[in-house]
This record gives sequence, structure tokens and C-alpha cells, in this order.
Amino acid sequence: MIQTIVLNFGYWSFDIISDLGFRIFYRMGLPSKRRTKQSKKDRASHFALKAIALTACPDCKKKILPHKVCPYCGKYNGRQVIKVESLTERKKRRETRYEQKKNI
Ligand SMILES: [Zn+2]
Repeated sequence: MIQTIVLNFGYWSFDIISDLGFRIFYRMGLPSKRRTKQSKKDRASHFALKAIALTACPDCKKKILPHKVCPYCGKYNGRQVIKVESLTERKKRRETRYEQKKNI
């Protein structure tokens, strides 16, 4: 017959199994006190997501993130910063690249 005796020494626990010896394990950390309903709600009061503030691009009037290059026209502060290609341009470029690869 196998009997187990569990001895607790604070963090560490000893599990003595007759005939098999013993094993040492530690107990998982658990909250020491119950959390009240209100304390849970108080913490959760900051979980709500806030809507991002968008500004209109001065050139194309589309909604963009403030202090960022407009992804639609590629302008920042009235200056062309990045080259934005249209979908058809992109398709064309990709097709030509594919054909070039095929020829090689
Ligand atoms: Zn723009």
C-alpha cells in the first residue's frame, strides 16, 4: 500500500511516498488576500481602448496619423518625402520583374 505524507515548510514541500522515497517541490505563488469586486473594477477602468487621433493630410485631405508621412501621397510638411506608387504601377512593375526572371 502506497501512503503519501505531504510536509509543508513554507515555500518548499516534501512529499514522502513510502517504498519510493520522497520528492521535493515548491508551491506556486498565490494571492495572499481576496480581491474585492470594486478593486477589480478600479483596475479594469484603464483597460478600455482609446480611439486614435487622426489629422487630415494638408495635400490630399485624407485621414492620417499626426507627425507621420502621408502614406497616400508621400508628402510631409508640403514636401515630397517618399515615392508612392499606385496599384496599377505596382502591378506593372511586378509583372516586368517576373518576365525578366523568366527570361533568365
Ligand atoms: Zn496626403
